Amino acid sequence: MDSEELAGRLAAGGFTLVEEPADADTVLVNTCGFIDAAKKDSIDQILAAADLKATQGVRHVVAVGCLAERYGAELAAELPEADAVLGFDDYPEIARRLRQLAAGVALGAHQPRDRRGLLPISPVARQRAFEDAGLPSPAYRQVIRRRLDDGPSAALKIASGCDRRCAFCAIPAFRGAYRSKPPAQVVAEARWLVDRGVREVLLVSENSTSYGKDLPGVHPAQLLAELSHVAGLEWIRMTYLQPAELRPALIDAICGTEHVVPYFDLPFQHASARVLRRMRRFGDAESFLELLASIRSRNPAAGIRTNVIVGFPGETESELEELGEFLAAAHLDAIGVFGYSNEEGTEGYSLDGQLDANEIAGRVEWVASLADELMAQRAEDRVGETVPILIESQAIGRAALQGPEDGIVRIEYAGNGLSQSKRRLPSPGSVVSGKVKASDGVDLVAELR
Ligand code: SF4
Repeated sequence: MDSEELAGRLAAGGFTLVEEPADADTVLVNTCGFIDAAKKDSIDQILAAADLKATQGVRHVVAVGCLAERYGAELAAELPEADAVLGFDDYPEIARRLRQLAAGVALGAHQPRDRRGLLPISPVARQRAFEDAGLPSPAYRQVIRRRLDDGPSAALKIASGCDRRCAFCAIPAFRGAYRSKPPAQVVAEARWLVDRGVREVLLVSENSTSYGKDLPGVHPAQLLAELSHVAGLEWIRMTYLQPAELRPALIDAICGTEHVVPYFDLPFQHASARVLRRMRRFGDAESFLELLASIRSRNPAAGIRTNVIVGFPGETESELEELGEFLAAAHLDAIGVFGYSNEEGTEGYSLDGQLDANEIAGRVEWVASLADELMAQRAEDRVGETVPILIESQAIGRAALQGPEDGIVRIEYAGNGLSQSKRRLPSPGSVVSGKVKASDGVDLVAELR
């Protein structure tokens, strides 16, 4: 999504975008700086792009994105293969920056700063302060965007930043305080996406349950209602709902608003009350199970996913088992399992009880293998359900209960004597109804009606 914004700004600034990095004069690498594995991937991509300077016509490699924002000059010093390391504040001027680079101007590396204090503590004072200060931001400015793929789903950022202080998370320091994108702007971008063939928008932010806290009179259910009137938009999928902030009114809105899919992305992160408190989060296994029951009392077929972090400092073996027991009781459709990554600048970094890397890897392996089993079981339980499916290609789709990383539906056609080639196949982007007849791991096999 940030890549699409940068692409839009570059196209508007007169640049020609090419498919292959090898064909470019300048390669922009949009990096991720969240956890160690993502950082390593980003650095590998910068190095791979830099290799093209020797073998192809690439002249410059520029790092942007979260890793660049978070480490700025430090990254530039350690990675001279990158010709420039730019921060979020450079985005509105990205075309000018690249022109300067092409003209031989040394851009100087971005100097990171803790962005949490840039806006007032009071959320409602932020929009005005933001305008007064003229602070640039990918989330707030009029979005200029260029689609980089032609699939029927697209992410739509509804807010940026986070006011929470989870002990393992570096995001608030480099993304800054929470700021919502005004509903009219979200709706305009949804229309823009629909005009370009999108049928499903994934509403993304660091914490979608907080949406509207800085905009008087605005709340997430209202945004969903406004989006439900966008003609041509089949599915609206809200992601990253903070479990501690999920109120009954929003559950009602997700289960009861036309075109909003009954899907709950709830990053519980753990189930032990003690570990959660050390993480500076709230809840425990019991309250999470109550939340799931409350969702299922409204829609028993709702899709539910979570992420968990394993190996947080001080996590005991019995707390790990507690997490396993919770996952077994929760009947979730998708479970993402991450090993704790000790990030500089977070509270977790200096906590006692740090586990060694091998211990964390062993715990991840145990929970991930349990999660695989539980997800496969949940998918099997879906056999017999009739589900709406968004067709992504002719034989592949995604059910409403599946987010983009939660598995797929393989389409089969009810036997009617016609060979498949003679049947009218639903086109990508259409929503059809199918009966689940089998499962394969997390994936479903459905017969079209
Ligand atoms: S709510 Fe999410 S983004 Fe915010 S601090 Fe916690 S983990 Fe990080």
